[in-house]
Amino acid sequence: MNISRIDLDGVGSPTALVARILQLVPDLPIPVPIVTLCERLDIVGIEELHTEGFEAALLTDELRSSGTILVAKGRSPQRRRFSIGHELGHFLIPTHLPPPGGLLQCSADQLRMLDTKDQDKRRRMEAEANSFAALLLMPLTILRKHLQRIRQPDISDIVRLAKLFDVSKEAMSRSYVDYSREAIAIVVVSKGRVLRYYRNARHFPWIAIAPGMIVPADSVWHDRRLAPGEIGEIVEWEPDTWLDASSARKTVSMTEQLLGQDNGFSMFMLVAEMRNDDDGSWSDTSRFR
Ligand SMILES: [Zn+2]
Repeated sequence: MNISRIDLDGVGSPTALVARILQLVPDLPIPVPIVTLCERLDIVGIEELHTEGFEAALLTDELRSSGTILVAKGRSPQRRRFSIGHELGHFLIPTHLPPPGGLLQCSADQLRMLDTKDQDKRRRMEAEANSFAALLLMPLTILRKHLQRIRQPDISDIVRLAKLFDVSKEAMSRSYVDYSREAIAIVVVSKGRVLRYYRNARHFPWIAIAPGMIVPADSVWHDRRLAPGEIGEIVEWEPDTWLDASSARKTVSMTEQLLGQDNGFSMFMLVAEMRNDDDGSWSDTSRFR
């Protein structure tokens, strides 16, 4: 792998950094060998993080001559890969200056931040590191080829593509939702309550069931518990199961599909068919979360 940090000089944004890396290593295999890439880019070690409440950290000096990535133990290899990508992002993005002492620690919540235009600098930094990790581990040119082949969105796509790119299903969900042309949302549920969801704000309407709320009584979730890894049928459902009345009126149809996961978790794929408005898109980006 013929790449070094000098090659990335003067490149600042997550998108530009990943584009340069892919240009320098055009034959980068999938799954992306993130550890080897780190070694080439002056990460001198990947070690265990022992601080309670944090998922990953970057230890570096003021000049960032080299860095050590620390990852919480006991995480799945896929979550670990994303954490490593995230910390490599902090290391390479020039504006992500390390705090005094050089240890930048990141929580699980920060590893899910997505708004790269957030007014809060730290939140924006975390979203940028996540964007870098996602783009690097799931290179868009390759991911798009897979997405274009999909005729009807199915939650099994996420399982299959997560395996292919060696990322978690949740990391794949975010990219799938973002880059699919369909109006799709993924809802993560834990023990019957909505934990979080991902939707493409351009295509998919606002979801009325906020994190913390119980899964709607009408949902397929209440019909039968799925075993971990089991995939449910695609079921057509009333849009107002998940949407408020005004969004539901703009929705022609909606389907739900459930994936059973470990430890009381499950994941929904919601696919909506929207009535076409003037530009054919759903336009509530002011409520983007
Ligand atoms: Zn971070």
